[in-house]
Amino acid sequence: MAKPKVVAILHTSEFHAEIPRVQNRNYSYTNTLGNIRTNPLERQQAIEKYSTIKLTELSEKERAEQLEVMTLEDWSDSIGWNSLPKPVRNEFESGKEIKNPELEKYDAVLMIWLRYRLESVTNEFLCEKLNLDRIIGEPIKLESCPCCGYRTIEERGNYDICKVCWWEDDGQDNQHSEKIMGGPNYGISLVIGRYNYLIYGLYDPKRTDLMELKAEQNEFEKGRIFEIIDNEYLIEKGTDWKWKITLPNTV
Ligand SMILES: [Zn+2]
Repeated sequence: MAKPKVVAILHTSEFHAEIPRVQNRNYSYTNTLGNIRTNPLERQQAIEKYSTIKLTELSEKERAEQLEVMTLEDWSDSIGWNSLPKPVRNEFESGKEIKNPELEKYDAVLMIWLRYRLESVTNEFLCEKLNLDRIIGEPIKLESCPCCGYRTIEERGNYDICKVCWWEDDGQDNQHSEKIMGGPNYGISLVIGRYNYLIYGLYDPKRTDLMELKAEQNEFEKGRIFEIIDNEYLIEKGTDWKWKITLPNTV
């Protein structure tokens, strides 16, 4: 599969495994690696580094899908958008179909999305991915998903889809949590969504197609905690919200 032409930044671990070399203390790479391991990285640099890695990992299909989504969205206020060549910006702003998503000129567009996507991930996640001990700076704090509790929602009630549990936030919360609102969550109430997330890892266990798309365990910070107590109640920690587990036959 053709990959975009970008300079890959290697993980230090991959560097050791893939490129055998003579160990020499004066060899510049040795010194650089030493610095990477011990010195903390500014968050922005870490995001830049991981975005570059992610860009090389995108398949042609993923590139095509993401670029298509971007033709439907307004990215004009995003950092870096105005630095894109005008013809490229025009393609997206006019909503035209992107015919050759593999072209290198779209790398810069995808990097804007990747940087944006990583702004809210935890330092722990970036440290793990980049083999770092510490990152300086804090993630952008998003709102907590009412279903799984992770901070994945930009604005409550705005139909954001949670990248952890896939609940679509139609604004439902503790007060009417048993109500099946219909619409975006396909007949699943918030309480059942919470229960499903805790047991199966998704608000709807039938959506197995989402399992590989969902965010990793430490990717987002936890803002609210839902727990099952004694196999009998589902609670939200720190609140008086409590639901006696009564499952419909369809779950
Ligand atoms: Zn969620």
